[in-house]
Amino acid sequence: MIGLGTNYNLNCSTYTPAFKNNPYYGGGYAAPSAVDSAAKTLGSAALLQIIAMSLQTLSQWCSAKLMQGKSFADNNIVRNIARDMAEKNNLKITLGYVDEANKHIFESRYNAPNAFNQVAKGANAFFSSNLNLAVAPKSKPYLILHEIGHGVNASKGKFMRFLQNSRYKLASLPTALLLTNGLLPKSQEDGKTFIERHAGKIGFAAFLPTIIEEGIASIRGINAAKAAKQVYGNKINLAPLKKNYFFAWMTYLISGLLLGVSMKQTMLSE
Ligand SMILES: [Zn+2]
Repeated sequence: MIGLGTNYNLNCSTYTPAFKNNPYYGGGYAAPSAVDSAAKTLGSAALLQIIAMSLQTLSQWCSAKLMQGKSFADNNIVRNIARDMAEKNNLKITLGYVDEANKHIFESRYNAPNAFNQVAKGANAFFSSNLNLAVAPKSKPYLILHEIGHGVNASKGKFMRFLQNSRYKLASLPTALLLTNGLLPKSQEDGKTFIERHAGKIGFAAFLPTIIEEGIASIRGINAAKAAKQVYGNKINLAPLKKNYFFAWMTYLISGLLLGVSMKQTMLSE
């Protein structure tokens, strides 16, 4: 999906509370000097907080850029390219362009109240393999090429589907890590478990499949627009499309970094 920052950002406040009351959260490590260790932790905690806040600011900036994005061609041309892209890839999906006037039709046809509100407002687009549906705002049809890209990914076999599905498993990651962490041996050297030492990397790695799959969906969309240049020539200007998709992808990259930071914070906040 094109998240536009708002609904896909994982900030520390989203993730930290889950740990605070977790009865399984334990496993304190013995430090050589309690005072030294506390000072160190405080320093790292402040630094992590600064990093998290900077990343959130950057993500909001990318979302704002994305909201201001311009189309790469006339809306009718964009829709033709979208239809051709779906046909060439043998996708039996419906392409929907949603606005305030027609969103109720989508809501009742797909029995999904509220699912199209953000799309109608121009603030989201999505692909659903269950509904065989890709939708974009009527005012920003160019977002649909990326969504069709997700559709192509979904049709490309196990590995692509693994990338696609990994995001849904993310929700249970913090709890899983904590449960596992309590069972792991602590190193003699620094008194930390493997998870405590690598919390940041593990958090980011968990998000990496999503970042890659989002990137591939965008590349497919850009390639479809590029191929259509043979038909439409200079009626197509690829630059704004690349720019839009880049900012959208940045919000995913930043979400991954934020997840890494919040994992690290969690391991510190013990
Ligand atoms: Zn996407």
